[in-house]
Amino acid sequence: MTFREIQGHQRPIRWLQHAVASNHLGHAYLFHGEEAIGKRLVALALTKFLHCERPIDDPLPDACGDCRACHQIAQGTHPDFLSITTEDEQKQNPKIKIDQIRALEHFVIYRPLVAIRKICLIDHADTMTVEAVNALLKTLEDPPDHCIFLLTSSRPEHMLATIRSRCMTMKFSPLSLSETSEFLRTRTKLQQADRQLLASFSEGRLGKALQITPEDLRIQLRQYWALLFGDLPKSPSTIMDMCEDLVKSDQVREAIRWFRFVLRELLLVHLNREHRSLFFPDQTSALLRLSETIDLSDLLDCLNELEKLERGQQRNVNMQLGLEQFFFHLQDHMGNKALQEA
Ligand SMILES: [Zn+2]
Repeated sequence: MTFREIQGHQRPIRWLQHAVASNHLGHAYLFHGEEAIGKRLVALALTKFLHCERPIDDPLPDACGDCRACHQIAQGTHPDFLSITTEDEQKQNPKIKIDQIRALEHFVIYRPLVAIRKICLIDHADTMTVEAVNALLKTLEDPPDHCIFLLTSSRPEHMLATIRSRCMTMKFSPLSLSETSEFLRTRTKLQQADRQLLASFSEGRLGKALQITPEDLRIQLRQYWALLFGDLPKSPSTIMDMCEDLVKSDQVREAIRWFRFVLRELLLVHLNREHRSLFFPDQTSALLRLSETIDLSDLLDCLNELEKLERGQQRNVNMQLGLEQFFFHLQDHMGNKALQEA
């Protein structure tokens, strides 16, 4: 993808184009922002532009997207471009290992083969092992003139300050609902209702919107609904087992986001009984019934708890405790209201 083909992120893109045009490009950048919003795409577009054999500057500097270099970058075969990402994507906690950074050290020693610069892209830079971080730090402390390092991360707070301080940081923000919808309209054959559903769910993360089908999204929504509201009241051991399973599966952040979606729909029904949920079109009466079992302030407290967990940097054990507490609170609140009205 070239700069002009990227939806959104106009601020970081303009900034990079300007830095290139005025010869002020730095040695190392950290692109940070939520997962799957387009940080890697922008890094690849910059790489293409820097290596392009026929760059254009009408109306703004960009790669041609069609020369040999542009194709080689898209395929990951350009001799002056190295891309590193986590190994073992299937594993629960994929890491960037020391061997990969050693390969990078080796790559940067020599001058570029065909381009003016060598470019190293390190995706998910927050997942480097301690050994990998220390090795990279040495390279970043004294970077060869012919190299540019592009790091991406959705959890920059997990990175060492010494790495962050050696990079120029650029924040990437999620796209708006209308930008996401428009992207899906032009790039997919989805019906309007499905586009709306995906756009709303993705919260501006285009990568997410493209990763899931509307059918899978509806299935998952039903599953998380069942975890929240199925078989109430749940016993303490059921809640603890469920939270342990979620934390072990390493899907806990995603799960919290789903729970937040479900509760947000409950909140919307609470605020307006005429609200028709985009996510649960066939659960209108269940949402109305559930909204009557919990006070607005308690519901807001529960949502707040989820948001804190989602934003927080808890380790697994704390995450599990936090999630358990959330479930106990939610259940207590729902039970209280039901009892008061009995
Ligand atoms: Zn090109």
